[in-house]
Amino acid sequence: MAFSSEERKRYARHLDLPGFGAHAQERLRAGRAMVVGCGGLGSPALYYLAAAGVGLLGLVDSDKVDISNLQRQILHATPDIGRPKVDSAVARLRALNPHVRLSAHEEHLTADNARELFAPYDVVLDCTDNFAAKYLINDVCVALKKPFIHASISGFCGQLLTVLPGKSACLRCLFPAPPPLAAPEASPSAGPLGTIPGVLGSLQAVEAIKFLAGIGAQLTDVLLTYDGLEVEFRPIHAKRNPDCPACGAGAKPKE
Ligand SMILES: [Zn+2]
Repeated sequence: MAFSSEERKRYARHLDLPGFGAHAQERLRAGRAMVVGCGGLGSPALYYLAAAGVGLLGLVDSDKVDISNLQRQILHATPDIGRPKVDSAVARLRALNPHVRLSAHEEHLTADNARELFAPYDVVLDCTDNFAAKYLINDVCVALKKPFIHASISGFCGQLLTVLPGKSACLRCLFPAPPPLAAPEASPSAGPLGTIPGVLGSLQAVEAIKFLAGIGAQLTDVLLTYDGLEVEFRPIHAKRNPDCPACGAGAKPKE
């Protein structure tokens, strides 16, 4: 379907961008991305994916907006305090780009609902803030062979990894289990400095846009770490682990 004149104006910078253009923009419009978490990482990721014109965005979050969120969760504003995060996120994204379809789920991601929630989407963005959710997303996406983009933040630092199940290293290939001293429900996101999730969530959006548009390379088999205090991006090269409990040869298929 051709772009309307309004869409051509809206996406003019993409349509004129060498290496992007109408073909990539059309693919983006046909693309479907699920964003789990509408907080620090999800705010910039959702904002940029909606602005870019991704066709369908899924949102999952069971939290309500708290005043302490506003230091970093830029989808939400002071009048939204007490409101479900998915509601204020949908209102903000709809105002930004009415062409994007939004599917909001005000619920907690669990082993029971994850498969059904992820099924309609081409790619999943892990914008959660706790180890239990991150390992659940890894395991469900590996089982569904669903590409996903992991990010995690703590203090002044963050990390990023794109996973193409069956083709590239998954989170458990690198870290078979959550850190031993951390309870699974523990949050890795001490602090953080408010702009750190902005950096990592924006990088997740870049990865998702390239994947959906079919351009460029993906951050696979490389864990990219960012240290905001030392001003350092460092790639840590990884390989699939044949003994990985999620994607290795001996992994038990999950029902
Ligand atoms: Zn693995």
